[in-house]
Amino acid sequence: MSEIKKVAVIGGGTMGNGIVHVFAMNGYEVHLIETKKEFAERALNTIDKNLSRMVNKEKISENDKAATLDRIQTFLDVNEGVSDVDLVVEAVPEVFDLKKKIFEAVDESAPDHAILASNTSSISITKLAAVTGRPERFIGMHFFNPVPVMKLVEVINGLETSEEVTKTIMEISKKLNKVPVPANDFPGFVSNRVLMPMINEAIFCVHEGVAEPEHVDEVMKLGMAHPMGPLRLADFIGLDVCLDILNVLYEGFKDPKYRPAPLLVKMVDAGKLGDKTDEGFFKYD
Ligand code: NAD
Repeated sequence: MSEIKKVAVIGGGTMGNGIVHVFAMNGYEVHLIETKKEFAERALNTIDKNLSRMVNKEKISENDKAATLDRIQTFLDVNEGVSDVDLVVEAVPEVFDLKKKIFEAVDESAPDHAILASNTSSISITKLAAVTGRPERFIGMHFFNPVPVMKLVEVINGLETSEEVTKTIMEISKKLNKVPVPANDFPGFVSNRVLMPMINEAIFCVHEGVAEPEHVDEVMKLGMAHPMGPLRLADFIGLDVCLDILNVLYEGFKDPKYRPAPLLVKMVDAGKLGDKTDEGFFKYD
């Protein structure tokens, strides 16, 4: 098993800053790589705020918080940021061409022993691995939002991922106090392949007038013990993101059971994307 001491996280947005947070809090030296100084600072501010919340709840001490922040270094250049790390976790937007460009650069500059991981929700790990010269050292490390809180890491093996790399990533996820669950590389992995059809069906229920959004959610919360209804969850994830993932499933399997509900398409066209636009199936302040 490879020893991992230093980690680079590429992208400090919603997922990236959480990934930096958990690695740094658990003793790893972390390079946070962003495109602009203000984006790196925004990520550091979010991490600072989230660590303060943990101090207030007495989950960590002020000293732990300071030590965590001390372990984070920011970079604006990918090649420089990955040059001496053991693991790279990519968390840039879900656009294949962007990830391809980044992994080509990473492959060139990261040490040969470094493991390359993507936090992609839906892009094929095998396809991303193939843009590098080390597909056996490439893997999916799929965290969940909010990263410091959610326990699951879906560990996705590409076609050529080596057993040693899978073992290393399973172990490192445990060191982050997460629960790693292995899966093989098929569209949507396990999480989105099961979740998105449920969300889609909830949207069909609204579309066909079976029930109002709040009633669909109430049935799933009270009847199935889901902590959050599927439509509230869809708003939280972003309706555009849900639509993109459904399209990946639909195209990946060529199976009509994954066809996106017309109401979902219409809401995305109307710019009603959920929490981020203050309106989706529900309204937000
Ligand atoms: P986001 O848009 O919040 O953050 C992306 C960050 O990447 C931004 O801060 C951006 O400045 C930065 N970035 C863009 N190009 C870059 C480059 N060339 N170099 C360095 N940084 C760059 O996106 P997100 O929600 O954090 O999603 C990131 C990835 O995680 C996506 O692949 C997404 O599918 C996946 N994911 C998201 C969620 C979620 O709930 N948001 C959950 C699981 C997985």
